[in-house]
Amino acid sequence: MTCRFCDIAQRKVEDYVIWEDDKFIAFLDITPAKPSHCMLIPKLHVDYFFDLPESLYLERKAHRNRSFWF
Ligand SMILES: [Zn+2]
Repeated sequence: MTCRFCDIAQRKVEDYVIWEDDKFIAFLDITPAKPSHCMLIPKLHVDYFFDLPESLYLERKAHRNRSFWF
């Protein structure tokens, strides 16, 4: 099964990546609601947000609290 987000995370398709670390990647949305609208996705495939392992979610949330980004 092909997953568009996994293709982006694995850099199999061209996209406007604006940030990434070893677990997440952010890129500009192809149909932006506003200028600079971006998406932040995990590099780990999950079908739904709530399928994301809690440790990964908490790590990202902690980073967001320390950072201007996300
Ligand atoms: Zn995927």
